[in-house]
Amino acid sequence: MDSQTLLRLDREHVWHPCTQQKDHETLPPIPIERAEGVYLIDKAGRRYVDAVSSWWVNLFGHNHPRLNDALKTQIDKVSHHIFAGFTHEPAVELASRLCALAPAGLNRVFFTDNGSSAVEAALKMSFQYWQQTQRPQKTKFLSLTDAYHGETVGALSVSGCSLYRDIYRPILLEGFQVQGPDCFRCPYGLKRDTCQSPCFEALEQLVSDRHREIAAIIVEPLLQAAAGMRIYPPNYLCKLRELCDRYDVHYIADEIATGFGRTGKMFANNHAGVSPDLMCLSKGITGGTMPLAVVLATDRIYEAFYGDYVDLKAFLHSHSYTGNPLACAVAVEVLNIFEQENILGSLADKEALLADNRSRFEALPHVGEVRQLGMVWAVEMIKTQEGKIPYAWQDRMGLEVYKQALERGVILRPLGNVIYCMPPLTTPESVLQEVLDVAFEAIVEVTRL
Ligand code: PMP
Repeated sequence: MDSQTLLRLDREHVWHPCTQQKDHETLPPIPIERAEGVYLIDKAGRRYVDAVSSWWVNLFGHNHPRLNDALKTQIDKVSHHIFAGFTHEPAVELASRLCALAPAGLNRVFFTDNGSSAVEAALKMSFQYWQQTQRPQKTKFLSLTDAYHGETVGALSVSGCSLYRDIYRPILLEGFQVQGPDCFRCPYGLKRDTCQSPCFEALEQLVSDRHREIAAIIVEPLLQAAAGMRIYPPNYLCKLRELCDRYDVHYIADEIATGFGRTGKMFANNHAGVSPDLMCLSKGITGGTMPLAVVLATDRIYEAFYGDYVDLKAFLHSHSYTGNPLACAVAVEVLNIFEQENILGSLADKEALLADNRSRFEALPHVGEVRQLGMVWAVEMIKTQEGKIPYAWQDRMGLEVYKQALERGVILRPLGNVIYCMPPLTTPESVLQEVLDVAFEAIVEVTRL
């Protein structure tokens, strides 16, 4: 199909996510034909650095020979089969290796097929756990403002980004929400690196008052990604774990974005040395090749669902593609690559490169903050330094930077006034430098007026 026909049919029939369809009149979607390492390549042969890992899923580059081989090998055995009453080696191997890697105590793995559905399953598991352990009044979930946990109704209910959520408010679950940490505009005037998270007090107070009704607290550990790559300190998670223990409330860690090395460690919880009761993983789990998600649970939670048929305790939650063998086989290969290619060990130099570029961005008059956590890097642009006044959302500053970078062959993504990169973990340093140089030029260009 030639490009023109493709774009015409796209305009006529395809409903793209997260896009004002009308924007396609001025900025049509780019038809991608193939990919190679960190590059997406369009039909005209133009190469784009995928510096956002295609929405944070890609870990080791596109068209990866080892991941492709794992898929090809599995496809010749079986692509998919029912996972109720049947099992297969890739799922079993993946589950046992994830448990060995995960924070201590997470010994059970439940399979779903995307991040939102993993969050739904975790919320239901927590709720049902309390129903089956004589605490049926624990029915509500507590989450943070500006959190993002997915778009399905349950996941959206515990999300806080008003842009995604407000219109659906009448159909969302009732729960509790407390102010999340906002280190850039810290109300206490503290610094992220040295503070002891006094902002945790609001959460502590609410849990102390209402813990009898609260089943679980769900957070994105250390990084509220969709909120604008907001980063907060590990001691917040330590306090959260302690609070959950004190009041018998589950801690659900949504590591869908942070898992698999993005933050410099395998999981963000490792920075704090804490173990959640339930942990959701997706995105990087298959290195960006197949949809797959899991919920890891403690034995304590699992056992509350264990019983005779007549006890009616089972977790009656399933998806047709649960435990898909292709996805599991490629996820096992992802773990092999982590293990055999020293991926985590190779990140320090790349992280240092990102950090070394910080000061030149900070010197720009409209850069409010440069944030970095492992391989996650973001710049928040502001209208004035005095009072950290943001640009109006209608200015679409992030989008303007995105467009400038795209013209220069680099895919960054905007989140309001924030522009970020979250490149594949194997991105060569020369390409990382190019990404930062392009981001710099694009920000200068857009903010100079
Ligand atoms: N939780 C977090 C922290 C996420 O970043 C995302 C996706 N951006 C989700 C949940 C939802 O995952 P999915 O898009 O696969 O439904």
